[in-house]
Amino acid sequence: MKIPGAVIGDIVGSKYEFHNHRSKEFKFIDADNFFTDDSVMTVAVAHVLTEYGESDDAELTEATVRLMCEYGRRFPHAGWGSMFSYWLNVRPVPYGSYGNGAAMRISPVGWYARSEEEVRRLSRIITCVSHNHPEGIKGAECTAMAVFDARMGKSKEEILERVSEYYPGISCLSCDELRKHYDFDVTCQGSLPPAMVCFSEGVSFEDTVRNVISIGGDSDTLAAIAGAVADVYYGIPESVMAEAVKLLPADFVTVLDRFFEKVI
Ligand SMILES: [Mg+2]
Repeated sequence: MKIPGAVIGDIVGSKYEFHNHRSKEFKFIDADNFFTDDSVMTVAVAHVLTEYGESDDAELTEATVRLMCEYGRRFPHAGWGSMFSYWLNVRPVPYGSYGNGAAMRISPVGWYARSEEEVRRLSRIITCVSHNHPEGIKGAECTAMAVFDARMGKSKEEILERVSEYYPGISCLSCDELRKHYDFDVTCQGSLPPAMVCFSEGVSFEDTVRNVISIGGDSDTLAAIAGAVADVYYGIPESVMAEAVKLLPADFVTVLDRFFEKVI
């Protein structure tokens, strides 16, 4: 059994999205944590790649829209933004979004792809079904590429060097500063840099996610993004995955098992 860092980050951050905590002291996963939209879409993308990862562009696009809608409509109260909710339920066509939803769902691409070129292609196709703004495409690709780089055994410095090609201002940020001044921001360009700084300063998967909660903002989504990278870089303790699995629908676990059987 493997529960990915994006899902665990989402679960840990769930109760802090609208009640920011801004401290690293808290129980990591408790009975009142829950999964949200970030987990639902991450599992949907894992499902898409398991069945359609080798399909051509048109078939992959069609399957992405269909499965994201199927998964999303099952959980109407998972925390969707209003625009994405309209996309899910009324009209699933690209709407120029640069919301951080592009990045929170994309980490399975970093696990699945066998080359940088494939990271870019899969990330672009899966993102452009909804978040076809240049910042949405960039945020998703940066996240997927960081996961891919970690999988390829790159050092933290190398991973962050590539992140800074996408977001050059990242070297000026620190968790201490973010803790004082960072505000709720649901854009990709306002979410990727702080999430990656939390990974940069973290010393383990759990420490990375604690950094994220401590800076406030859109906690579950930032933790999904940073957690995805920290997962591959550090691994996640079995005990943490065992706590998370209790909070997930059984079929999510089955879908994730099938996905990781294929990619690990
Ligand atoms: Mg959420």
